[in-house]
Amino acid sequence: MLTSHDPEPTKRKTRGMRATYLKVANGNKENAWSAGPTIGVFVHRIATSQPCRHKITEGGLQCAYCGAGLVPEWRGYVPLWDRDQTLRFVLINYEYLDAVRAINLHAEVVVSRAKSRISPCVVRAELWCTSGLRLTEKTRDPVDLWPALLTIWQDDELTQFHLKAAHEQLTGGARSGVEFPLEALAEKFDADAMRLRTVAAADEKNAAFVRSLKDRGAGVNGKAKK
Ligand SMILES: [Zn+2]
Repeated sequence: MLTSHDPEPTKRKTRGMRATYLKVANGNKENAWSAGPTIGVFVHRIATSQPCRHKITEGGLQCAYCGAGLVPEWRGYVPLWDRDQTLRFVLINYEYLDAVRAINLHAEVVVSRAKSRISPCVVRAELWCTSGLRLTEKTRDPVDLWPALLTIWQDDELTQFHLKAAHEQLTGGARSGVEFPLEALAEKFDADAMRLRTVAAADEKNAAFVRSLKDRGAGVNGKAKK
């Protein structure tokens, strides 16, 4: 029999670290609330937006996409709180950056997207506010989206680059200009360790299960050997 499990408790408390993309259907609108400063990143648009490692590290890391001749494009990652107070983000173009920067923290916004499937979002201040954002411990402070983006990108070298920059900042070494909160970074590594432990435990169970099949003389796909 297969067992249903609740999420691991440690996964529940990774606050402020995970953010998911706020999907807005073509020609539709979605209300949300400003959660913090927009982060500008040069990306390569493959199936999804992948960070340009060369640009984001100011030449510190090589970028395979640049190496393949692809030109990076600027995108602004805008952190937002949705109706359920879940941290989300949308991507905007250069041309909407000034308008988005003019929006106050916690102000209600309308996110829309033009008809084209690939067009970036438009984020505007909501003129006819329907409800204010409920301020809690989670939503009160401006969100730093960097740790969430690093978690999404899953590029270990890029994460290490930020970790080194954070360490240098802490120890008074060369300033890299990269602001990175150490608590959030520690939480990211906690979450990674938990994920790896979960995978390792599942693999061990699978290995034991396969061995037990072998011991019972079962063949491929559980069919008994003739
Ligand atoms: Zn690149």
